Amino acid sequence: PADVLDADFYGFQRRLTEAEQISVAEIRDYLEREVRPGADDRWEATTSPRHLIPGFAELGLFGSGIPEVAHFENSAVYRGWIALEIARVDPSTATFIGVHSGLAMNAIAVGGSPEQKSEWLEPMARGELIGAFGLTEPLHGSDTAKGLETTATRRTNADGADEWVLNGAKRWIGNATFADVVVIWARDTADDQVKGFLVRQPATGFTATKIERKQSLRAVENADIVLEDVIVPESDRLQEIHGFRDVAIVLRLTRADVAWQAIGVAVGAYEAALAYAKTRVQFGKPIASFQLVQQKLADSLADITASIALCVRVSEMLDEDAQKDHHSAMAKAFATKKMREVVARSRELMGGNGIQLDHGAARFFADAEAVYTFEGTYDMNTLIVGRAITGIAAFV
Ligand code: FAD
Repeated sequence: PADVLDADFYGFQRRLTEAEQISVAEIRDYLEREVRPGADDRWEATTSPRHLIPGFAELGLFGSGIPEVAHFENSAVYRGWIALEIARVDPSTATFIGVHSGLAMNAIAVGGSPEQKSEWLEPMARGELIGAFGLTEPLHGSDTAKGLETTATRRTNADGADEWVLNGAKRWIGNATFADVVVIWARDTADDQVKGFLVRQPATGFTATKIERKQSLRAVENADIVLEDVIVPESDRLQEIHGFRDVAIVLRLTRADVAWQAIGVAVGAYEAALAYAKTRVQFGKPIASFQLVQQKLADSLADITASIALCVRVSEMLDEDAQKDHHSAMAKAFATKKMREVVARSRELMGGNGIQLDHGAARFFADAEAVYTFEGTYDMNTLIVGRAITGIAAFV
């Protein structure tokens, strides 16, 4: 089994089964060998780690929460822990995997018919086919449930086949520039309900343009998508999605994983700052010997520890079939808020060197901003908890 990370102060990792901890050890080793060495360069060059896809698949990182394709029976805490481990080394890689495995594969696992699951899930788990998840639009982010404008119109074509015509636009869609299948969420013009469509690539009328000049998660490719009369056969509509309520099931599952990802971002920055504080000498002493520096380190470790405790429980609730939207929303809001504080303190502890990629905190500092915002902003997740507390939705 893997050693407990120093940042895992209470040793939560020991709650995993032995098989899970052996897997953590393998994954941690792979991340150190293959992912960490090029992470800053990929970030600067804005290239996603596509060459590592076969390695990720071999480690079982794709679809590990989907029993049909998981490499071994595992718990939600294990899967969260893996998100932490990946983000601790490279938040961009964690996001790439989160989009393919968490969002796209879960959309098919939750919303697909048996035929759709058997067509897509195995090749996606093997990394032979890559997925994207297109929900957000240029004019609708937090309010997609109500505001989503992309349309799907059902028709019978000249050959008598049942098909859909999609029109609209999507923004921020991860992996969409190179994905083999993009799940597009669109509103049925007949019943006004949101439905899901598997848009196979390439598709006539579908364009995905890489979003340039991002300053966060630079090694993930995000795209602006335009859909102009894109035709999708009825057999590629996700058969078990009947409205936004079903999309929310996918989001609830992935939101808790993003909370774990946020802890990983915090741990990555904290570890860099701690190492720096032990070696950086000012006033003739390592800065780690100053009380104010120790306070920052202790505050960060407490934030990380509290976030892990919260996330362990929210993942256990998933396995107990007791997890509700507001539970994962609280975990995402809390862990990302604490992450933002930890990365800022870590950057600060490194003085001027903290803003430069080479010293290990800057990438986490910048990446934290996107993690704070995607999969429901801090505000929206807080308001989901507020609705659970008061019974009043403050966001509509
Ligand atoms: P807005 O919704 O415009 O929000 C702007 C601000 O207003 C926020 O601070 C928000 O909290 C606040 N706000 C909005 N409404 C309220 C309210 N009622 N009360 C209080 N405050 C409010 N989407 C996908 O579909 N697929 C992806 O793969 C994907 N990947 C992403 C990757 C990155 C790097 C980023 C940055 C985003 C990604 N997204 C993706 C989109 C992401 O989910 C949205 O950015 C997010 O939901 C917020 O939407 P928005 O950016 O449109 O902000």
